[in-house]
Amino acid sequence: MVDELERKYDVKIQTTEDKVKFPDELKAELKAQGMMDDKGKLKLKGVSPKMLKRMKQEYVECPVLKDDVQFVQCFICPNFQSRVMGEVLCKGEPLK
Ligand code: SF4
Repeated sequence: MVDELERKYDVKIQTTEDKVKFPDELKAELKAQGMMDDKGKLKLKGVSPKMLKRMKQEYVECPVLKDDVQFVQCFICPNFQSRVMGEVLCKGEPLK
């Protein structure tokens, strides 16, 4: 028997036509993790440029932060488990 992944929320991924801005904190975090170069270009392992372009226009209404969160930020969040059929499986733990 396989236990279902422990998670609290299925969060729908939404799309916007506007390019979502990356807050400076997120940029710093991405750079620290080696996911963004000095020019601000994203480098996520296994994610194609086409996919990246799409990810930049996606966001979630985060149930933990109670705010709209850029998908890339959600992707690197400790609560992020996986992305399934347009939804993020989120652990829902409190975030600092
Ligand atoms: S994974 Fe993180 S950013 Fe994404 S919805 Fe859950 S708490 Fe919010």
